[in-house]
Amino acid sequence: MRAAILERPGHPLATTTVPDPRPRPGQLRLEVAACAVCRTDLHLRDAEIPASTLPIVLGHQIVARTDDGRRVGVPWLGWTDGSCPYCRSGRENLCVNARFTGRDIDGGFAEQAVADERFCLPLPDGLPDEQVAPLLCGGLIGYRALRFTGDARNLGLYGFGSAAHMICQVAVHQGRRVFAFTRPEDARTQAFARELGAAWAGGSDAPPPEPLDAAIIFASAGELVPRALRALAPGGTVVCAGIHMSDIPSFSYDDLWRERTIRSVANLTREDGREFLSLAPQVPVRTSITRYDLDHAEDALADLRAGRFEGAAVVVPAAR
Ligand SMILES: [Zn+2]
Ligand SMILES: [Zn+2]
Repeated sequence: MRAAILERPGHPLATTTVPDPRPRPGQLRLEVAACAVCRTDLHLRDAEIPASTLPIVLGHQIVARTDDGRRVGVPWLGWTDGSCPYCRSGRENLCVNARFTGRDIDGGFAEQAVADERFCLPLPDGLPDEQVAPLLCGGLIGYRALRFTGDARNLGLYGFGSAAHMICQVAVHQGRRVFAFTRPEDARTQAFARELGAAWAGGSDAPPPEPLDAAIIFASAGELVPRALRALAPGGTVVCAGIHMSDIPSFSYDDLWRERTIRSVANLTREDGREFLSLAPQVPVRTSITRYDLDHAEDALADLRAGRFEGAAVVVPAAR
């Protein structure tokens, strides 16, 4: 099969022919229809987070068909031990032996993949493969982050990429007011946020017009944490939704005082997946995608790094 391979972090993905993957007991053989790109793929490519095995096929938002014709989604959480204290307390996202798709297990920037059947998610009908793929990480980990904002009415979203463009729609559907923060001067992304229902959009260097009850940081810039903290009303929460962030600058305790909270969100549970994938069609969440074929998977990562598209990038096997 053809696959886009990460051989050495810090170097471009190479699209090449490799042996077809062979399913082990409990795994499904999958024909990949689409695989959306996540910022985590870029962090792995850029050696900001380590891959546990090399070479590796990146991509953990896989929409695929099984040999018996079912459409399934393969998310980031690829395997857990089911027996550690976290698994036994409903927190499999924190499993001490967890294995992740596209980091520990070959992912979906390929024509075929294999995946543990227990971690494949059912997908809602009615959405095309390429449109549903971004729901599988940006959507559902974004939704996990949104849940941690409680009943916040004024919600800030820092970094308006794939995850935020979906979570903005969910938050507006829930009756919240969304304040979208983009790179300074990025008028195009600010307009995109307003189209999706944001009440306000501006640069991340500007304060919002009203205090926020909560903020979710999707961007990987640590300096956004104290900025978001200073935009919060008392009792508000900053949720850091990414897997990697640059160092957070020091800040005054006054910024945290009055019961403000900072927390991170790590990975997903299968329950998060089922909950979000049943909610998404009710909103309905509409994804804005840019398509790349397998030969151009590296270009998708470069364009994500440079902020050259709105919404999500999706890699599809060629000739479709
Ligand atoms: Zn992801
Ligand atoms: Zn476990």
